[in-house]
Amino acid sequence: MTSAASPARPIDIAGLELAELEARLVALGAPKYHARQIYAWVQRRGVTDFAAMSDLPKALRTQLAAEWTVATPTLVRKDVSTDGTTKYLFELADGARIESVYIPDTPAQTFCISSQVGCAMACAFCLTGKMGLTRHLTASEIAGQVRVLAHDQQLAGPDTAFNIVVMGMGEPLHNYDATMAALRIVGHAAGLAVPARRITLSTVGLVPGIEKLGQEPFMPNLAISLHASHEAQRDALVPINRKYDLEALIEACKRFPVKRRSRITFEYVLLSGVNDTPEDARRLVKLLDGIKGKVNLLPLNAAPGIPFDRPDDTRVDAFAKILSDKGLTVSVRKSRGRDIRAACGQLIVDEGPLAPRVKRSAAQALADRL
Ligand code: SAH
Repeated sequence: MTSAASPARPIDIAGLELAELEARLVALGAPKYHARQIYAWVQRRGVTDFAAMSDLPKALRTQLAAEWTVATPTLVRKDVSTDGTTKYLFELADGARIESVYIPDTPAQTFCISSQVGCAMACAFCLTGKMGLTRHLTASEIAGQVRVLAHDQQLAGPDTAFNIVVMGMGEPLHNYDATMAALRIVGHAAGLAVPARRITLSTVGLVPGIEKLGQEPFMPNLAISLHASHEAQRDALVPINRKYDLEALIEACKRFPVKRRSRITFEYVLLSGVNDTPEDARRLVKLLDGIKGKVNLLPLNAAPGIPFDRPDDTRVDAFAKILSDKGLTVSVRKSRGRDIRAACGQLIVDEGPLAPRVKRSAAQALADRL
């Protein structure tokens, strides 16, 4: 009986670091130095067709086209906000969908990328959290978002620069290895060469991940989603606090090797009547005492299904003033792209409109959880 061996699935090289690509190339019997050329074609120039890689020998191009592939998230939809913020909806090889956001002129150009399909952390005010976790993204899928946005926004050239915030869908430290590999891929000099100081990773506070991050040679800036000034409040808003509590989190931040001229950003979502009182502000000051940090206040981006309200601007300003009067550096995050549901916590991939739920008062919601 003759049966043709089924062809092996081509290897996706978009998620390989340069050293891995070199090893794969050597395994094919080709010289190692071609790896750097291929890496530049893919990661810097965004070329996915091996036939077009004109500085490679023809025979090698043919061989690579047969055995390798460059997977790229498929752009399904692009929404542009009145403020220029652009939300990208991508479909992945298995049909899963994720979103990335381009935020212009902050004054930097910033890409907000996702690390997971959905999220397991279930923070009380976050729409992505309501999706639950479908799966982790691969390094290819995480780096692929940066590659597509950089080319689409014409920011991949040598005279352009952009920042990356890992603040989209998902908890990056829950998908540690793929996230870090992706950051090294976009950071490599042969590729887009994004310096680590232009990258910020935001975490809900997975303490072991923070400790690991502190040892990384390619170490992004750290942002912590704090959101509360005492344990019971954080237990209610950020359920992972029951595992890694505020005390452990603050200790981890104190140990974190913050780079020169850098600080840890503490994100604090302001929920009307829940965590926005003057006492909260004063507790927050005490909590952060002795840490090289700054506070980024995020007045809630309200949405159907989120049982909290956004405080009004005077309350936000009063909270900010207490912090700054005590010497803390504080900024208030401007909500960008709210009209296209691209703002923080609004990334959710659903086919139809979100089923609006009954909006309970914020105090009631908190009481339920305590
Ligand atoms: N899982 C990571 C990455 C998400 S980052 C983390 O928790 O840090 C997105 C930031 O937006 C986080 O600080 C998150 O808590 C915040 N956020 C979530 N929902 C929000 C909402 N509805 N309004 C304002 N900020 C929100």
